Amino acid sequence: MAVRFYNTLSGKVEDFVPLEDNKVRMYTCGLTVYDYAHIGNYRTFVFQDILRRYLKYRGYDVLQVMNLTDVDDNTIRGAKAAGIPLREYTDKFIKAFKVDGQLLNLETPEIVVRATDHIDDMVKLIQSLEEKGYAYRSDGSVYFSVGSFPGYGKLAQIDLSGIRPGARVDSDKYDKTDPRDFVLWKAAKEDEPFWETPLGRGRPGWHIECSVMSMKYLGETFDIHSGGSDLVFPHHENEIAQSEAATGKPFVRYWLHAEHLIVNGEKMSKSLGNFFTLRDLIARGHKPTAIRYLLASVPFRKQLNFTFDGLHQAQQSIDRLRNFRYRLTMEKFPPGENPELQSRAQKARTTFEEALDDNLNTAEALAAIFDLVRETNTAMDRGEFRDGVRPAFLDVLERWDRVFAVLEDNDHEKLRRLGFIKDAKVEPTGASLKVEAGTVDVQTSNGYTSAVLTEALADEEIEKCIAERNAARRRGDFSSADRIRNDLLSAGVILEDTKAGTRWKRK
Ligand SMILES: [Zn+2]
Repeated sequence: MAVRFYNTLSGKVEDFVPLEDNKVRMYTCGLTVYDYAHIGNYRTFVFQDILRRYLKYRGYDVLQVMNLTDVDDNTIRGAKAAGIPLREYTDKFIKAFKVDGQLLNLETPEIVVRATDHIDDMVKLIQSLEEKGYAYRSDGSVYFSVGSFPGYGKLAQIDLSGIRPGARVDSDKYDKTDPRDFVLWKAAKEDEPFWETPLGRGRPGWHIECSVMSMKYLGETFDIHSGGSDLVFPHHENEIAQSEAATGKPFVRYWLHAEHLIVNGEKMSKSLGNFFTLRDLIARGHKPTAIRYLLASVPFRKQLNFTFDGLHQAQQSIDRLRNFRYRLTMEKFPPGENPELQSRAQKARTTFEEALDDNLNTAEALAAIFDLVRETNTAMDRGEFRDGVRPAFLDVLERWDRVFAVLEDNDHEKLRRLGFIKDAKVEPTGASLKVEAGTVDVQTSNGYTSAVLTEALADEEIEKCIAERNAARRRGDFSSADRIRNDLLSAGVILEDTKAGTRWKRK
């Protein structure tokens, strides 16, 4: 069965059929890079990652373009406050955004582009809109004339005909002949960065950026455009108007919008004290894969209520999956086959694929895998599991994780590689394992925060301690073995003695 998506443009769930064979061209409105991205932003980016991973899983060849808005009121204000050039200011947040993406296992889109690298292309599109009679100049700025484009409002399904000239619909300070009109090019203001162009001195409006960058890399008509539901109007509506007015062709075939995220049932806002960047959560000791799991767990068209309880449960769910895979890999089972279990594994695969085919129903895809884990653990406990069916189960897990990307226990390794954690110095063998609290600078929404994470034992140190403990146990020195176990626990490392040997994980 085909993959099906809810298309905002038609208001219906539709079979997804790309324009060209199995090639998918999709565009994503990226971040406006004036601050660290918050978990509401990442709800949308995780959804887009699940989308591209699942399209690839289904055999499509994905070409994804993501823009970075590196010029707007916020970036200009931030650069001014920091006293540095705009480019330098936005560079910092682009770098942080890339680091965050690695932490959250987000695949990098094939093409990531900055708005300010495409000013010439924007000027050309605006000129073409002027020539065709869709745009006009006023006080050095250029506006799109909404009244000249008959399809306006088709995405947001709104009727703007009731708004009369003279009414105020937004806070834009520029002079427009019709309040519905929006700015394509903003005349230079004092103290603001500008570009010297055939349109005059100024800078692009936000909406034109996305029309230009998407069509440049994906063609005048492409398959998928996605973003948060807050972008439907006016941003995406305006993108359609600009693009279709300029080309006379349909702009985007499937519009996918993720609902927003709330925190403890309330709108996330700095004034309510419930505003979190990804880094704020990491600084509180939460693991990136648990955050990814939580953000992926609710189907994208449903509002996601973020709670710390939910985050805790996400971590437990991941642990359950990892424990199951460990058992599947390491435990000894009787030789032979079990046709019933073999088909049970197959059924889990079909169920999670059908759930994702159905407008990316991630909640059901998760349920499918947890049903399998529960039933298989029971079969293993009863001695019904057979060595011959092991590959079928490992295959289902591997396939499922190609989309969800949470099975690998690599948070510590990534946090360490990306500079969030330092290796602790450990006292020589025999002495007690003392891990000193570290001071690692982590940039959070409050600026630099110091000492938010402690140093942690390196993997080799932990392995060394476990070897020592095993040696102690072999010679019957159980008090030393217990001491090492407790020392490791106080250093944040949990030991589990399983049938397949001693396994460790970080708290
Ligand atoms: Zn956009």
